[in-house]
Amino acid sequence: MSLVVKTTCLNCGKTIIGEAKEDELGMSIICPSCNSSSDVEDNAQEIHYFEIEFSNEPRNPDGAEGNCIGDYSICILGEREPSIREAAEFCKADMEKMGYKYVVNVIEIPKEEARTFFDIERENDFPIFK
Ligand SMILES: [Zn+2]
Repeated sequence: MSLVVKTTCLNCGKTIIGEAKEDELGMSIICPSCNSSSDVEDNAQEIHYFEIEFSNEPRNPDGAEGNCIGDYSICILGEREPSIREAAEFCKADMEKMGYKYVVNVIEIPKEEARTFFDIERENDFPIFK
């Protein structure tokens, strides 16, 4: 799994969420706004992608098992994995908009998969679960 971090561009000051590349000089990241390279500090925040499954049936309410598939899912960014309860709170507006009552599963997915399945083009503007 590639390392995705949240950091600040040293050139334009924008918040960057993206993949850090490692070379002989250490970890760096390219700013999508100004294309300049910034060093990734040791304390940069690592970001993970989570698929949040929605359903109208409260299946698997404790979220212990990984195989419960909902009727609809969205992708969120998080500094850590939310519990089912935290995910429901974080995704409240999306659930209301989509008409679902429950979060039935939270699955960490690789960035590549998030890219394939979800519209995360505007990920720099996404709220991040902390
Ligand atoms: Zn920049």
